[in-house]
Amino acid sequence: MSEQLHDSEQGTDPQGDHKAERHKKAMQKQKAKVDASIAAASTERGVAVLLTGNGKGKSSSAFGMVLRALGYGQKVGVVQFIKGAQLSGEELYLKNQCPQVELHQMGTGFTWNTQDRSADIAAAEATWQHASRMLADPGYDLVVLDELTYMLGYQYLDEARVLQAIAQRPSEQSVIVTGRGGGTALQELMDTVSEVKDLKHAFKAGIKARQGVDY
Ligand code: ATP
Ligand code: MG
Repeated sequence: MSEQLHDSEQGTDPQGDHKAERHKKAMQKQKAKVDASIAAASTERGVAVLLTGNGKGKSSSAFGMVLRALGYGQKVGVVQFIKGAQLSGEELYLKNQCPQVELHQMGTGFTWNTQDRSADIAAAEATWQHASRMLADPGYDLVVLDELTYMLGYQYLDEARVLQAIAQRPSEQSVIVTGRGGGTALQELMDTVSEVKDLKHAFKAGIKARQGVDY
C-alpha cells in the first residue's frame, strides 16, 4: 500500500464520498426491487424453457441446466431430435460418465440429406416416444428436448400433440426445448423464452468448429 492515500480513500474527498453515497442508495433501491420480486414469485412448480434464435448457445445452455440439476441429484432425461455425424462433448460425457442420465438420440434414419420425408417422420416419431414417456413420468425432474423445434417446423411431429404433452407434464417437472424458430404456440406455452441473437460467429470468419466449444 502506498504511504500516501488518495483523498477518496481517506474519506476527505467530498466528490468520492458523494459517489459512494449515491452508489449505496442505488444498491439499496435495487435490493428492495429484487426482494419485492422474489416475494411476489410465490408459485412453486416446474418451468418450461424455450431456447431459440439464430445465435450459438442454445443446446450448450440446456446442457448447463442438466449440470445444475445433476448437482442436486435430480433425475434427468435428454432426447435429441437431430443427431450430428460427430458426437458432441456433452453427449460423450453423458454417455460415458453419467449413466444416471437417460439419453436418447434420433436414429440414423434422420439426416438433412436423406430428403426422404417418410423415413424422417418415422425417425422423429420413434424418438418422440421417449420424450412423451418422460413427459408423463413424475420421476423425471428435468427433460431436455434438444432441437425439437425443427420437428415442428417440418411438421414431422404433430404440434398439438407435442404441446399437449409439454402442458400436461407433471407439475414438478421442468422441460427445456431448444432449436431455432418453434412457432408462436410453443412460445406462448413456455414459461421462459430466450432468443439467442447471432451478432457474430467465428465460423463465418473462416474459423473451424472447435472441439469443446462448438461440439
Ligand atoms: P451450441 O450447441 O453451441 O449451444 P446451438 O445449439 O445454439 O449451439 P445449433 O443450431 O444447434 O446451435 O448448432 C450447433 C452448432 O452450430 C455449433 O457448432 C455452433 O457453434 C454452430 N452454430 C450455431 N449458431 C451458429 C451461427 N449463427 N453461425 C454459424 N454456426 C453456428
Ligand atoms: Mg443446438
